[in-house]
Amino acid sequence: MKNIRVRFAPSPTGHLHIGTARTALFNWFFAKSRNGDFILRIEDTDRSRSTIEFERSIIEDLKWLGLDWNEGPEIEGNYGPYYQSKRGDLYKKFVDELLKKKLAYRCYCTENELEKRRKEALARGVMSKYDGHCINLTSGEEERFITEGRKFTIRFKIPKRKIIVHDLIKGDVEFNSDTIGDFILVRSDGTASFNLAVVVDDVTMKVTHVIRGEDHLANTARHILLFEALGYPVPKFGHLSMILGVDHAKLSKRHGATSISDYREQGFLPSAIVNYLTLLGWSSEDGKEIFTLEELSKVFSIERVSKSPAIFDIGKLKWINGQHIRELTVEELTPLVLPHLREAGYIASELSGEEVVWVEKVVRAVQTNLVVLSDITNNAKLFFEDKVGYSEDVLEELKGEQVSMVLKTLEEALAKEDKIDIEKAKVLLKGVAGRLKAGNIKGKAVYHPIRAALTGRLSGPELFYVISVFGKEKCLKRVEEAMKLA
Ligand code: GLU
Repeated sequence: MKNIRVRFAPSPTGHLHIGTARTALFNWFFAKSRNGDFILRIEDTDRSRSTIEFERSIIEDLKWLGLDWNEGPEIEGNYGPYYQSKRGDLYKKFVDELLKKKLAYRCYCTENELEKRRKEALARGVMSKYDGHCINLTSGEEERFITEGRKFTIRFKIPKRKIIVHDLIKGDVEFNSDTIGDFILVRSDGTASFNLAVVVDDVTMKVTHVIRGEDHLANTARHILLFEALGYPVPKFGHLSMILGVDHAKLSKRHGATSISDYREQGFLPSAIVNYLTLLGWSSEDGKEIFTLEELSKVFSIERVSKSPAIFDIGKLKWINGQHIRELTVEELTPLVLPHLREAGYIASELSGEEVVWVEKVVRAVQTNLVVLSDITNNAKLFFEDKVGYSEDVLEELKGEQVSMVLKTLEEALAKEDKIDIEKAKVLLKGVAGRLKAGNIKGKAVYHPIRAALTGRLSGPELFYVISVFGKEKCLKRVEEAMKLA
């Protein structure tokens, strides 16, 4: 069987969008699952909007998501260059061939003329497309245009026929070439149009499957005609449905962050983004929802990609992110939250080995409460406070009838300990609860005052974590202080 070759072809005119990232992922999974090659190609034909910064940011985000490529920028390959801006000679060669075969022609119409005729056609109720004005110019007419100093574009002569896209996702989609005007292959400045560049690249890079967004479906009809005119096999196509916001409108800035870098900054994990984006259009056979990149590359199949639009739901993304955070070891999670703790001013830029161990304890205490990494700031705040600020509710709690008894029992238990780790803290709390039960103090009446005294709060991480992070002396000090309020 022919080696599968797919490509991801971003235009560096903006940051990596979540929809584009999903396209990259589906191509990557498709290649991985079939032992094929994944090519990265930079489509920078729009020189005025393409920037090196966007290109770098896209490449960085792809790597951050965990994607790699078999050919493309940084690693090159046998079918480069992998930048459209560097492939001009190749495009010219293919266009010359089309001109020679009379499958393309020069068009000398100016923008003004085109605009005028477009308006006239519209007024007559005729569909607006290029009217073929220059399709059969005589050499005399052409010479006159050249003498006038007119610039020309090169247009593709659209053959009259039906075009059927046998789409891997959407099924057969039919187009009638009557609706397509002779489109531009080469602009008046001599550069290749998007449509020409894409097809020539797919031909010369030996791409076997084109998986891209549904917004390119109409272009695909044009591309099929061009592949055929050039005399090359047409690759297989798969068009991914749009991603919509919860209001079913096309996803835009209005719905919140739309670029991968935004989510990265907000503290989402790459593994969670990969997982969530894949579920936007693909589902597993058994309904399983949490996957790693590695797992997805094994179970993904294009046959299970849905035709219907996907709805981007930030709540679901957050839930998945929380699940992925839970899957990390404390050693993996700690370095990821350090920047957030630093930004909040909780820790210094350099930490000693001992401090890192302590921060790891804090991280362990709050890990299950984190939805995004930046949540560490709120969740771990209590561990970095020197003084407890008792709120009204907490003061009320500490005035409870049995509080003195609870705190006294805790104080005695703490005093007997030396170093308190998580296990010891669990045993200690159990012992305290057991003793109080004898006096008929139980449940909330035990744990609320303890939490209020130690943290100045009524909710937070498990108490055994709190005690093990604070250690004996700090706990004793806080209990003593709270006893004065009880
Ligand atoms: N450069 C195009 C885009 O960013 C992709 C074209 C293609 O995949 O064929 O939309």
